[in-house]
Amino acid sequence: MLKYANYDIVFQEVPEEVTLAINISNCPNHCPGCHSKYLWENVGKALDESELNRLVSQYETGITCVCFMGGDNEPDKVSELAKQLKNSHKGLKAAWYSGKNDLPENVGTDHFDYIKLGRYMEEYGPLDSATTNQRMMKRLSDGRVKDITEWFRKNKSVNAPVKAQVTETSKTL
Ligand code: SF4
Repeated sequence: MLKYANYDIVFQEVPEEVTLAINISNCPNHCPGCHSKYLWENVGKALDESELNRLVSQYETGITCVCFMGGDNEPDKVSELAKQLKNSHKGLKAAWYSGKNDLPENVGTDHFDYIKLGRYMEEYGPLDSATTNQRMMKRLSDGRVKDITEWFRKNKSVNAPVKAQVTETSKTL
């Protein structure tokens, strides 16, 4: 069962979207240098369709995107939640931050507008680092998938102060 530890409204994780980011626990990746080790534990509240709808309904008028942060232990369930989100909340985009370098082939990705791939590796840095190993992929309106990782580096200085302004909206369960 997927569980989430907390959530936040963020502006920098998905380019040009106001995003409800849901932090899913029980992360199996255990990246060296992880800044969110509390997500290694199987903690928090069950995240099923009903709970997702409840969360989204609270913020639907102010957000443009929902991002599943993690969930690599049960990628099929993350994919299913994205499908349900897109079916029941028309107009909202769906994003996934996976810590895997590649997703399992049998996991559907058609319902995602954005997917971030790649373990966090301190020596290469996060998405806004010039040397990052991570990649952000965007599905274009014609169905093609484009690597937009460079956006994070180009917008690095713009993003930093915005993040600081939204910390009061974060919720911990
Ligand atoms: S995927 Fe994210 S939460 Fe999981 S260990 Fe890596 S950095 Fe930490």
